[in-house]
Amino acid sequence: MVTSFVASVQEPTPGLERQAIIDLSAIANNIRHLRSLVEPATFMAVVKADAYGHGMVPVARAAVAAGANWLGAAHISEALALRAAGLEVPVLAWLHTPASDFTAAVAHDIDLGCSGWELEHIVAAARSLQCPARIHLKIDTGLGRNGCTPAEWPALVAAALSYQAEGLLRVAGVFSHLAVADEPHRPETDEQLARFREAVAVAENAGADLEVRHIANTPATLTRPDSHFDMVRVGLGIYGLSPFEGTTSAHLGLVPAMTLQTQIAHCKDVPAGQGVSYGLNYATTAETTLGLVPLGYADGIPRIATGGPVRVNGTTYPVVGRIAMDQMVIDLGPQAREGFAQEPVPGSALGSTAVLFGNGADGGPLVEEWAAAAGTINYEVVTRISQRVPRSYIGGA
Ligand SMILES: *Cc1c(COP(=O)(O)O)cnc(C)c1O
Repeated sequence: MVTSFVASVQEPTPGLERQAIIDLSAIANNIRHLRSLVEPATFMAVVKADAYGHGMVPVARAAVAAGANWLGAAHISEALALRAAGLEVPVLAWLHTPASDFTAAVAHDIDLGCSGWELEHIVAAARSLQCPARIHLKIDTGLGRNGCTPAEWPALVAAALSYQAEGLLRVAGVFSHLAVADEPHRPETDEQLARFREAVAVAENAGADLEVRHIANTPATLTRPDSHFDMVRVGLGIYGLSPFEGTTSAHLGLVPAMTLQTQIAHCKDVPAGQGVSYGLNYATTAETTLGLVPLGYADGIPRIATGGPVRVNGTTYPVVGRIAMDQMVIDLGPQAREGFAQEPVPGSALGSTAVLFGNGADGGPLVEEWAAAAGTINYEVVTRISQRVPRSYIGGA
């Protein structure tokens, strides 16, 4: 891992042919901003899926330094990696299978989400370790994925509290997950919040003494103060991205933390009628100059995203032709010819920095443009950037 400490200017780390530059100061600022919106509620930074592609351990350290009180992971294995890296703040993992290592989780003081079936596995782990497990009971308030149904809820609460009375468990939390918080006009969020309050009341009336009740993800954190309860679980927002269609990061006071860039690997003049990339779906209409961008679907750029933007020397060009495993092509246009003497590409673009997306500060391309080109969402674009692309870190403490 290459680390440098340039706070504002994003220079390619020398020697890296391609890189995802992660601005840890942007993540810290995003967390400080989001925390200010939710105080006095506690803040969980969600760092599952390698911190949405940003690198779990460096992001988790920066998040804790910036005031995140908790870390959130989907898998126990992710939570264990946080502990192995020396992170000691509370960590919650919420997506398990019967093959999950509940014993390791309890041994490493990881809080566990429990939708029902996990309870016996968690209790068995606690028994074998002679150490009480900490759990957060999950109620399905409408999402229809994980979580206990309202019908089964009183029985789950009773079973968990009886294990708590035996000293095998601590029921530390009740939580749920929202389905449509990114569409703030939809009424289902109100219904989910009402069911959540009911489920919390059932648990508390049964004697649960909860530390944290939590349901808010990034969009609810931003739009629904009545969803904050004791803690919010924020993923996308800490990476500076907007969960709302048509609302930019800047509008939300957030700064995108990931810049994906490489260098132009080849640059050549071609005649009109030159086909480009597999399938020859694109052909030049005039004499022009093609630039080869050495990133492809093996790097996590969706193959379907032809037309996505690439910024070279201050101008943004759309990808033409098919995106291949390792590479894609941009048409630098006729102005790049004639010895490349004319703006906006002075000199050969070979070796020039090619930015696929970044923080947008210089009018450069954004993750959302790639999401639109690929028919997906910003979450998926950053999360899929593959391990073939080295991460480098700027803005660290
Ligand atoms: C991924 C996840 C989050 C974070 O969602 P964002 O929209 O990225 O903030 C919160 N809670 C649960 C249960 C999740 O799976």
